[in-house]
Amino acid sequence: MRATVAGLHAELVNYGLVVWTAGNVSGRVPGEDLFVIKPSGVSYDELTPENMVVCDLDGNLVEGAHAPSSDTAAHACVYREMPEVGGVVHTHSTYASAWAARGEPIPCVLTAMADEFGGEIPVGPFALIGDDSIGQGIVQTLKGHRSPAVLMQNHGVFSIGKDPKAAVKAAVMCEDVARTVHVSRQLGTPLPIGPAHIDRLYDRYQNVYGQRSPR
Ligand SMILES: [Zn+2]
Repeated sequence: MRATVAGLHAELVNYGLVVWTAGNVSGRVPGEDLFVIKPSGVSYDELTPENMVVCDLDGNLVEGAHAPSSDTAAHACVYREMPEVGGVVHTHSTYASAWAARGEPIPCVLTAMADEFGGEIPVGPFALIGDDSIGQGIVQTLKGHRSPAVLMQNHGVFSIGKDPKAAVKAAVMCEDVARTVHVSRQLGTPLPIGPAHIDRLYDRYQNVYGQRSPR
């Protein structure tokens, strides 16, 4: 899991989702009440399996020479409250964060959005770093919601998945649709997709398409 999480940070860079050190990936250790997360303030090209940090589900450091990411409490809260989640990603990617700054959900106006998100990408509450409030806001918004991504108001994106790679994919797709829907808005009014069509697209993509098993 250390190697997986260290390696996936390169994807945040490859897809242009992060600047400086502002973004992080974590992964639950299978069968343990532990997760692996990025160390705080270490640049992406210096991340190795060895300098990843292991924390318990209260966000306490269990193993590692560095302090854990400053977003560790939020990740820990998600793993505690959502046992089906195996990976969490946080970014301030540009277009998605622009929607978050306006506190506006991204409407489901693309078939690719219906596939991956099953509807709009919701907005979570404004919350300050330092306690459980970001994590609780993520959990309250995503529990029972199809979307694996939430736009935390005035902040950025948190995404979840069955494993860290799925959470990275959701972060990449979130930024992609945020950009396309933004551009569409500049051209006029995007057309909504009807709920029944969204359901059909979501069901097909999640259960039939490709080799993946249902989430
Ligand atoms: Zn942040």
